[in-house]
Amino acid sequence: MDGQLNLVEQPEMYRLKKAFERAKERVAETIPPMQGEKFVKPLMVERKSGRRVYISAPGEFKTTWVSEKYLSRLTRVLREELKEDLELVVEPRLNEQSGSEGCYPDGIYHSISYVTEEVGSRYTFDSFVVGDSNRVAYQGALAVASRSKDAPNPLFIYGGTGLGKTHLLRAIEGEWKRSRMSGCRYVTAQQFSHEFIEGARGNGLDDFRRSFQTIRVLLVDDVEFLEEKKKSQEELFFRFNEFYESGRQLVFCSDRSPRDLRGLPARLRTRLESGLVADIRLPELEMRQEIVRRRAEEQGVSLDPEVCLVLAESAPNNVRTLEGILNTVIMHARVGGRFVDRDLVREVIEQKFGSSGRGSVTAEAVLRMVAHHFGFDVEDIKGPCRRQDLVLARHLTIYIIREHLGESWKRIGQRLGGRDHTSIIHGFRKMKQLLNVDHEARACYQDIKRELSWA
Ligand code: ADP
Ligand code: MG
Repeated sequence: MDGQLNLVEQPEMYRLKKAFERAKERVAETIPPMQGEKFVKPLMVERKSGRRVYISAPGEFKTTWVSEKYLSRLTRVLREELKEDLELVVEPRLNEQSGSEGCYPDGIYHSISYVTEEVGSRYTFDSFVVGDSNRVAYQGALAVASRSKDAPNPLFIYGGTGLGKTHLLRAIEGEWKRSRMSGCRYVTAQQFSHEFIEGARGNGLDDFRRSFQTIRVLLVDDVEFLEEKKKSQEELFFRFNEFYESGRQLVFCSDRSPRDLRGLPARLRTRLESGLVADIRLPELEMRQEIVRRRAEEQGVSLDPEVCLVLAESAPNNVRTLEGILNTVIMHARVGGRFVDRDLVREVIEQKFGSSGRGSVTAEAVLRMVAHHFGFDVEDIKGPCRRQDLVLARHLTIYIIREHLGESWKRIGQRLGGRDHTSIIHGFRKMKQLLNVDHEARACYQDIKRELSWA
């Protein structure tokens, strides 16, 4: 391991590794090729201790998968190959381990996309459509941006995915920069945590902390990421106090209210909700029409009100999805030399979501697709079994249905064999966290989306 080859051990390791390669091949032949390629092929022998052979898989997601699905088969075949009574243990590969704080390897971390969107982009207050569902959040953000005396501090904005939280933070940042003021910083919670950990690891902690001293407005996005991340929470808590005591501005965004961020300590939660807590709810139909109209206009397309309506009706739960549909429509029109009319919109919506739109059939399609992808029956996913690999598949199903179809927690619970809504929320959060840190899980999610023609 450390370059000091143990001459006694070396031949044994060599034999073991060779045998394991053969075992992998033999097992891979018995399962669908895609799964062999994805799960079995990347496995590696790490070390041996007594009769235990430790193998590694890239990422926690695959580790769970392998241990549930293939480990006993691999063990059996390896025993045959070596005629030894060995035991296999699978672990996430050290330099690719993910999922717990403090061990983000560079490779994985870089595959996580922090927001890198340039300021000065289209995330402005002008381009933000205001309605009852987001007025309070909008006004709070505007007050911060215009440095009004009674700007709420801290301002905490929460709401579902794709409803404009990041847009508002970026709008504050943009406004600040436009007036040539320095000292406004946007950071995602991931970035905050990553920089903090990196700093703590080397000798950069002082630099990290000092970098906040010149900041007058700190915007922290996706705070939910810090749940269960004890050290980073504590750091944020200290930065919070520093800002607050010196009268500097803080703005936070999250998918839940401070109260519901159960993975944060109470003292931080109470700080977060000590100013204005503003939620963003689902936009009304008129707002969605207006968003569509403006987005099209920005691209030089003027839409018929009727077409706007059809588009707005197609994605009630997520403005990002709505924009995606609009962009696809515009692209099709350009490429095919067609007008943007009802027919074209319907075609695109059908292509994206299947002929019956985003109704109940589509959630069933998600279930079938996830089941198919992992080689389960739909009934297994709906059923009570708590085997780790099934639980993962179940959580992914919940995540996709919620994120893309926007079904209520309750409805998803009914779909999945009558589960309680709290367990659905729990599953959603678990998957969300996993997707944040485990690129294997993300790859899986992307694959399924692609198979559903959503990506
Ligand atoms: P969130 O951070 O809440 O997940 P974003 O701020 O990234 O969502 O918004 C997703 C997309 O929807 C962005 O392109 C954003 O500009 C757009 N959007 C969301 N809400 C509005 C709104 N009220 N008016 C205009 N565009 C919006
Ligand atoms: Mg966001």
